[in-house]
Amino acid sequence: MIIATNVNKQFGKLRVLNDISVNCNKSQTIALIGPNGSGKTTFIKCLLGMVIPDSGFITVNEKNIARDCQYREHIGYMPQISRFPDNMTIEQVIDMVKDIRGKKSGLDMELVEAFGLPALYKKKMRTLSGGTRQKVSACLAFIFDPAILILDEPTAGLDPISSEVLKEKIMKEKSRGKLTLVTSHVLSDLDDLVTEIIYLQDGSLKLHSSVANLRKDTGEEKLNKVIAKIMREQVK
Ligand code: ADP
Ligand code: MG
Repeated sequence: MIIATNVNKQFGKLRVLNDISVNCNKSQTIALIGPNGSGKTTFIKCLLGMVIPDSGFITVNEKNIARDCQYREHIGYMPQISRFPDNMTIEQVIDMVKDIRGKKSGLDMELVEAFGLPALYKKKMRTLSGGTRQKVSACLAFIFDPAILILDEPTAGLDPISSEVLKEKIMKEKSRGKLTLVTSHVLSDLDDLVTEIIYLQDGSLKLHSSVANLRKDTGEEKLNKVIAKIMREQVK
């Protein structure tokens, strides 16, 4: 579904993405992990067309995204930091995004319901707690039933129960064939969720492998142990 080929990006003198090539397919839940500043968000923004690579190219469903922005209708995106108009209510924000996306039927309101947002519809965005804003932001990624979900640190700021609700939704969409790319620096949040791991460090791809293989190779079950072991091996 998504193929990135030799993607490079530099901000001034800082090389943020260094020749990244990856292939992401249907029904995968891919964890994009790496230390702060390793280029995860920049890479995601490249996929969305919000950052333009200096070289290399990206295709979504076999179409080069540099030539056509139509592909974006297949993506649901939850940004790491979301900003909403302060004086709009949750309901108005959701309606506005429906208008912008031009999709008013076939909507998936499951997560909206699961988070209990309808009871808060009339609340203004500025009065919401950080966690509730995150919930609104997560819902906007899922409502339009996109084939690809890109979630940047989705569980940051969510309480444990809401975080579990979101994980269950991601797993359900996976079983329906969706591709999900999710970043998180809290690896334990991803444990029973992900099928593949992409590890970035200083803008370079250090690892892209299936979790099943990684578990087999390391003999570890928990993702943070799996990753720690592999990183230690690489240093040797
Ligand atoms: P991550 O999401 O892995 O924490 P980012 O992709 O946000 O990393 O950032 C990678 C590096 O690129 C950081 O050093 C960050 O400061 C820098 N960076 C990100 N966006 C910009 C920008 N628009 N202009 C300049 N530097 C940027
Ligand atoms: Mg980031």
